[in-house]
Amino acid sequence: MEEKKGHFETTVVHAGVKPDPTTGAIMTPIYATSTYVQISPGKHLGYDYSRTANPTRTALESSLAAIEGGNYALALSSGCTGTDILMHLMEVGDHVVSVDDVYGGTSRLFRSIWSRHGLAVTFGDLTNQPLSDFVTPKTKMIWIETPTNPLLKIIDIEKVVAQAKKLPHRPIVVVDNTFASPYFQRPLELGADVVLHSTTKYINGHSDVVGGALVTNDKGLLEQLHHIQNSIGGIPGPFDAFLVLRGIKTLALRMQRHGENAFELAKFLEKHPLVDRVIYPGLESHPQHAVACKQMKGFGGMITFFVKGNIENARRFLESVKIFALAESLGGVESLVDHPAIMTHASIPPETRKSLGIGDNLIRLSVGIEALADLKDDLENALKRSQ
Ligand SMILES: *Cc1c(COP(=O)(O)O)cnc(C)c1O
Repeated sequence: MEEKKGHFETTVVHAGVKPDPTTGAIMTPIYATSTYVQISPGKHLGYDYSRTANPTRTALESSLAAIEGGNYALALSSGCTGTDILMHLMEVGDHVVSVDDVYGGTSRLFRSIWSRHGLAVTFGDLTNQPLSDFVTPKTKMIWIETPTNPLLKIIDIEKVVAQAKKLPHRPIVVVDNTFASPYFQRPLELGADVVLHSTTKYINGHSDVVGGALVTNDKGLLEQLHHIQNSIGGIPGPFDAFLVLRGIKTLALRMQRHGENAFELAKFLEKHPLVDRVIYPGLESHPQHAVACKQMKGFGGMITFFVKGNIENARRFLESVKIFALAESLGGVESLVDHPAIMTHASIPPETRKSLGIGDNLIRLSVGIEALADLKDDLENALKRSQ
């Protein structure tokens, strides 16, 4: 596929995109076609049916592989499709170890869908406990998300990979890289077998597509994953593929600004008297700050904090913000604010939420690329009104 090395800022603009050979169009066309004319039965130009492959999607897949520093990528209908495809690799009786503070939709797939099909998942705190505390002889997959959602825990990818490689049955290590994006973190270079993305978030970056991706260096694994995708049909349409490809061109610029804005706001919130605690991997107060410095190029655009008081203070804060929009999702150019206990993480049982530390006064920010001064004023005003 595309060049693996090179400057990220150049790769995002060019990877996967070549002038259209028939017209010279600089942008990859939206190939709105389900089927392709064959020259003679079984003889065609590489495409026979769009569930299997589509040229706009192929361009996106080359770009996704290149930006993650991987050999192969699959573009998917959503991030959750990626999780589902990976779970289809398992067989009845197999076991998965997952980080405990996993994305709500991933947890729902594990707990309420795959548990009914004979797959067991153990959730563990992989920030400080060794993998051996959770694995069984049936463990076939290790599920890492880092930074986690919403507690922004940082898992040491290299350390977990090293532990997984020592296990006799060698489970595959998956990293959900949605929060960091490949601009800040590239798990394949740290030894992971597969990277998962919800491209809905930073990779597309404009809150106008739901999509996903799987990236790997392993050809055999890619073939298995593609076989599953082609069988179950979790594909993005060509228009969505085009939009994600377009979004990727500004990924480096956007991530740089997301990271700068978030770092400044995290420091501002940490000093604020109406805030109890701030979680941001770039702050020295973050328990895994050293790991974040080691494996990330920057700390991302997500901030979690606890507003002083209880759920009523959180509610007043959320009703008072003007620039930060109260909405689920993250990673778009516009700033968003979320209340995980009521919104994104409502599907996690309340006792589990509580034991994880997802309190009723916990607020999650997806910091956008607006002017820092405006974002700071907005938070200041809403904090004042929260009490
Ligand atoms: C949103 C998200 C997903 C799921 O992606 P969808 O595109 O919504 O299906 C998975 N992991 C993380 C970390 C996410 O934020």
